[in-house]
Amino acid sequence: ESVVHWFKRDLRMFDNRGLSQASEKAKEAGVPLICMFVVSPQDYQAHLTSKARVDFDLRTLEVLRADLGELDIPLYTTTIDKRKDVPSHILQKFQEWGAKHVFCNIEYEVDELRRETKLIDTCLQQGVDFSPVHDDVVVAPGSISSGTGKQYSVYSPFFKSWVKHVHEHPHLLVESPAPSANPEAARKKFKALFDCEIPSAPANKSLSAEDRERLASFWPAGEHEARDRLDRFLAEKIKSYQAVRNLPAANSTSLLSPHLSAGSLAARTAVRLAQQANSSKRLDGGSAGITTWISEVAWRDFYKHVMAHWPYICMGKAFKYEYSNIEWEYDDEAFRRWTEGTTGFPIVDAAMRQVKTMAWMHNRCRMIVACFLAKDLMLDWRMGEKYFMENLIDGDFASNNGGWGFSASTGVDPQPYFRIFNPLLQSEKFDESGEYIRKWVPELKGIEGKAIHDPYGRGAQKQAEKAGYPKPMLDHKKCRERALERYKVGLGRS
Ligand code: FAD
Repeated sequence: ESVVHWFKRDLRMFDNRGLSQASEKAKEAGVPLICMFVVSPQDYQAHLTSKARVDFDLRTLEVLRADLGELDIPLYTTTIDKRKDVPSHILQKFQEWGAKHVFCNIEYEVDELRRETKLIDTCLQQGVDFSPVHDDVVVAPGSISSGTGKQYSVYSPFFKSWVKHVHEHPHLLVESPAPSANPEAARKKFKALFDCEIPSAPANKSLSAEDRERLASFWPAGEHEARDRLDRFLAEKIKSYQAVRNLPAANSTSLLSPHLSAGSLAARTAVRLAQQANSSKRLDGGSAGITTWISEVAWRDFYKHVMAHWPYICMGKAFKYEYSNIEWEYDDEAFRRWTEGTTGFPIVDAAMRQVKTMAWMHNRCRMIVACFLAKDLMLDWRMGEKYFMENLIDGDFASNNGGWGFSASTGVDPQPYFRIFNPLLQSEKFDESGEYIRKWVPELKGIEGKAIHDPYGRGAQKQAEKAGYPKPMLDHKKCRERALERYKVGLGRS
């Protein structure tokens, strides 16, 4: 007999609700704990998972496997080509290992919820108790609602209610105990499982050796790295977070998003430790830096609640259905220039090139490039949403969809449609000295002063031309007018 924990997007031993409960159950029953992880290439395809993200997850698994091994807990890993075969394969494994109890942490995307619902039924028929557990978010979807009992679709009241709920349920931030060691005999009994190697990435999700090396040095994987990064951020940066978080050159944010997405850090751990660093016991009191950062982590919860409540957003539908009639452009060349970072708008190009190198982009820049795509280029925001998922190391459906909905004004708590970022003003405000632009658009390195934000409009034309930097691909003022008109017509307000 055994108890099983099925890892998905919770790739850590520390403070893991499902794993902790599985370990307790195994101890209680006096049977070994077995862990498993399934690589599903079709899931990667369906979720548009980036190569960088697949690589990060697999590197995280290596760390996890070693840590579990120290406790004589095996991590069974395998690749199942066809998505539909995953449930039957894991059921077969449960039988083979004599599993009576199986735990996993819930993923709130619609396909995953459906799969788990079916698994609960099938397991029941086989006498296996299958328990999906809330872990991915601090406050589980469904536990807070507005005064009229509705799901929040605006962030500020959501956050207020979120804070109140956590204060009233302090156990939500309590750390889950790490798993206990298996009896030594488990190693002999499950020798084949201990010998399991972490699978390689499927061919179409495999990074080149050069990219792999670069990304591994930007983004070391595993929960120890996540904890170190969090500790450093809390010690060195969080206090000034509120003041400088919007400046992409300041390196002032936590850079924890890949870990929160892969689950090598729990949102709960992040909030608990941030709170402990605060002088106030309240999540919304004390240091402005700390409370602002906690409220950013709560945005992640917000978007997961939205997804769980309105699953149609997982199916390519705008949250605001009245925005479905906007006329978008489908201009491949314009889209290509956006992805390549050759729009002629330095702040946009810097941001898009940051993604190409780091598989990550600063939040302010995500908003700038998303607004540029949807409102200046009038390209369908779903093209940008897809490109982000396919290229970000922290790609997360709910946060990404939420961010695109915000920027294109089609989502929950969106920017009003008539708020259209002027890329030049954004650039001057958030990258005043041009340090970020010079870093990511090296051909503009030699351009001094304010001309960095708009070399062709501010007297640095010759230098820009010589360096091969393109002219702006559009006239922002005209495009702004076009966007206002298209949104008005789409909404039937013209
Ligand atoms: P910090 O500023 O240190 O914040 C801490 C954590 O809070 C983040 O790691 C993240 O988990 C969460 N967080 C912060 N801001 C947001 C936000 N606006 N929405 C949701 N969670 C937030 N975030 C992703 O994790 N995955 C995505 O695929 C993603 N796509 C986005 C697309 C667009 C168009 C926009 C505007 C935002 C997107 N975000 C996404 C949110 C945000 O940009 C990143 O979480 C943030 O830049 C990550 O950097 P950090 O870890 O240094 O953040």
